[in-house]
Parts: sequence; C-alpha cells; structure tokens
Amino acid sequence: MELNDLYRDVILDHNRRPRNFGVLTPADASVEGYNPLCGDRLTVQVRMAGEEIVDIRFEGQGCAISTASASLMTEAVKGKTRADALVLFDKVHSLLTDDAALGDELGKLAALSGVREFPARVKCASLCWHTLVSALKSRDPQHAAAVSTE
Ligand code: ZN
Repeated sequence: MELNDLYRDVILDHNRRPRNFGVLTPADASVEGYNPLCGDRLTVQVRMAGEEIVDIRFEGQGCAISTASASLMTEAVKGKTRADALVLFDKVHSLLTDDAALGDELGKLAALSGVREFPARVKCASLCWHTLVSALKSRDPQHAAAVSTE
C-alpha cells in the first residue's frame, strides 16, 4: 500500500467517523471557526484543568478535509498542555505549508500532508487549529469568539 493511500484512508475514516464529535458540557471555552473559501463551519470546545486540555470536542459542518482534520486534532491534543498544543499547531502548520519532513513526529496527523498539493484546501485543514488556538487563548465561555481564516 502506498503512503498516499494510507493517508487517504486515515482522512476518509476520520471524516466518516469523526472522533470527539459533539457538544462538551461544561466547557471552559467554545469558539466557532469559519472558512469562507469552502464554507466549513465548526465549533471547538475545550475543558481545561489548569494548563491541561482534559477534554475537547468539535461539531459543525464542513468538507471531508476539515472534518477529518478536526477529528485528528482532538485526538492529538487531548491530555496535552496548552503550551504543547500550541507547539503542535506550529508543526501542523509547517506540515501543511512547507516541505518539511515532520511526518514521523506527527503520527496520524501526517495524513494531512497530502493537502500541501492543494493550496486551496490548506485552510480547510487548518481551520480547526486556528479555532483551537483561539479557544485556548479565550478560555471564557461567556466571551465566545468567532474565528475566520480570512
Ligand atoms: Zn473545506
């Protein structure tokens, strides 16, 4: 099996059966993200214990890439500290935009590297991450913010 086939299978699987999909109650932060280029909309909710992301969920509607990316993200950051999640965001951003060979340290997130060949889809894959970063910065459910990739 070619690596690209493996990556495609991961994307398809996470799109068909998104992990951590639904509403999180209570949540410490809830942020909505929107990618006008594609029409992807999703809400990311996090529950924190100090600096640790103890739970995370997302919901919304978007293309296969945006849904799979959000699903993979929730798996990747649950249990991580806020600082570690931000570091991971930088690595994923490099994965999506550079030719940097980061695949090994990113595990399943490496499946998103195929998006590099389709610049118009990069925002589909990065939307959930921008939304997460905003949620980690706000952490206040009373001030739910909105994020746009524009
Ligand atoms: Zn999209």
